[in-house]
Amino acid sequence: MADFTKVKEWIKDADAVIVTAGNGMAKEEGLDILSEENFDDQFGKIADKYDVHTIGDALDKKFDSWSEQWSFWSELVNEYSLQYEPCETMQALKQILKDKDYFIATSTFAHFFENAGFKENSIFDAFGDWTKMQCSSGINHGQKDDREVVKRFLKAIKENNVTEDLVPKCEDCNSPMELHMPLNANFFPDTDANTRFRWFLTGNEDKKVVVLELGVDETSPQLLDPMVKLVEQFPNWKYVAADLADEDMPDDLKKRAAGFATNSHDVLMNLTK
Ligand SMILES: [Zn+2]
Repeated sequence: MADFTKVKEWIKDADAVIVTAGNGMAKEEGLDILSEENFDDQFGKIADKYDVHTIGDALDKKFDSWSEQWSFWSELVNEYSLQYEPCETMQALKQILKDKDYFIATSTFAHFFENAGFKENSIFDAFGDWTKMQCSSGINHGQKDDREVVKRFLKAIKENNVTEDLVPKCEDCNSPMELHMPLNANFFPDTDANTRFRWFLTGNEDKKVVVLELGVDETSPQLLDPMVKLVEQFPNWKYVAADLADEDMPDDLKKRAAGFATNSHDVLMNLTK
């Protein structure tokens, strides 16, 4: 296994840190979209009606009505984003990045990093952000904050008064709005954030950079191979992976890579010790 002391030095010396955070990091925050544990208990009606038993499957499913869909989405957004408190792992990451120039590219879509207090302009939510909504027409009519919609639905659910009128509509074309996530072909990534991320990469090509991979797995390959390729390309960059083993690193990166073959929690705790 790689050596934490060496990686601490790399981070201390770095001009910038780029964090890639995937499914494993969402799990640290309690959101495991592939887990069957508790789903049927919490969402029994949805589980029976649509034969879905994980959050991931339920998000992929088109429900019979938009109000039913928004009721379900609202409970998720409330639980994982509105009621969110940063866990120990996230606190450790904050400590590591405290005095660093950084950028976070993440496939987690529950607004964790923004809620934890990282700079919004330094985050690219590659798979969207479910505290925002988009037009369901398939035309890009922009994104809107959906947190007030979520609160209205929660109130209506409590009062047993959910109606189709509560479903938010696009201001441009009056189509129902849906979560800003790649649930179908209507997804348009946040181009401004994507552009900021690209500028950050370009601006740091010649600088000392540590890429810190946290819980990126096969569910978001976009954040894995392309980043390894960039590190291979720029000799002053280093690659630190929570989940990969040293043996999994490309041969030409061996001296500039550290793999811990564990989870994000373990790595971040060790790096802040
Ligand atoms: Zn529209």
